[in-house]
Amino acid sequence: MISIAIDGPAGAGKSTIAKGVAKKIGYIYVDTGAIYRTLAYYMISNGISAEETEKIVDNLGNAKVEIKYIDGVQCVFLNGEDVSGKIRTPQISMAASTVSAIPEVRAHLLSIQRDLAEKNNVIMDGRDIGTVVLPNATVKIFLTACVECRAERRYKEMVEKGMDANLEEVIEDIKVRDYNDSHRDVAPLKPAEDSTVIDTSWQTLEQSVAQIENFIIERLK
Ligand code: C5P
Repeated sequence: MISIAIDGPAGAGKSTIAKGVAKKIGYIYVDTGAIYRTLAYYMISNGISAEETEKIVDNLGNAKVEIKYIDGVQCVFLNGEDVSGKIRTPQISMAASTVSAIPEVRAHLLSIQRDLAEKNNVIMDGRDIGTVVLPNATVKIFLTACVECRAERRYKEMVEKGMDANLEEVIEDIKVRDYNDSHRDVAPLKPAEDSTVIDTSWQTLEQSVAQIENFIIERLK
């Protein structure tokens, strides 16, 4: 099976790019952030805060997280319920960033990701795909952009979805998550040594999608 790893900080355009390429080359797109979000959602819904590490570890066995594809679209299930829509809130983004620093949480979610890549050609996006989850991925890209550029994109996305959004808050959230994700002890956000780093700061998302699609298609030849 062939796998393409796309890592990078929040808002760098990973999901839009990965989705576009997956469609073009017929691979499945795996958004790994969704499973961390789902676990965070389980904890919050059960009155456990993201800081209560011990309780979170004790409860991992109660949260069955699954990824399924419905009409080609990834959906995440929590104990049989489709929670794909419920996990996309700023509160869950921040909680996911906190719970994802717990080594037991990362270990718990590893097999879901590796199983998908064993059985399918995948484009997987996340923070540690090229470094930890799929160290032998065929193509590894580390996508980045300046904080303001990423925040602006995230803000526009939220507004388009009709969500309540404040640009300053989005910038602050992204800064905090960047810091958490790149300073944790286990699987911190960093480019794999054999990855290609692409900075999309000064491009429109459409330009980045086109550039990266071409890059991946060339590398797969
Ligand atoms: O990608 P997304 O923003 O949905 O991810 C939510 C959070 O999940 C990230 O801020 C990060 O802390 C965590 N995450 C991770 N490893 C991944 C994917 C996401 O730690 N592979």
